[in-house]
Amino acid sequence: MSRDIGLKVKEPTRECTDKHCPFHGTLAVRGKLFDGKVTGNKARQTITLQKESPTYYNKFKRYARSKSTIHAHVPECIDVESGDYVRTAECRPISKSVSFVVVEVRT
Ligand SMILES: [Zn+2]
Repeated sequence: MSRDIGLKVKEPTRECTDKHCPFHGTLAVRGKLFDGKVTGNKARQTITLQKESPTYYNKFKRYARSKSTIHAHVPECIDVESGDYVRTAECRPISKSVSFVVVEVRT
């Protein structure tokens, strides 16, 4: 049985024993959602992902690309490859730089 995390996302098909899993553990998600492309999955259970968003510079009357990179925790029940597009939700800080958790792999 998985918990209702309050987001409209697909639930993972398998169960896990990860306590930092929003579906099967005790981790609560709240705050922001972050969609991005996975740029690295070398660390165990942690990925880096990058979001690109246009920012407008009034002085030049043009848009420039701005990027931001965050670290996110991957629960044991979700498989993530480098290059996937995932949706992450904000949670309490899991480690120094990780305060987001992957809730869905978008196809
Ligand atoms: Zn899980």
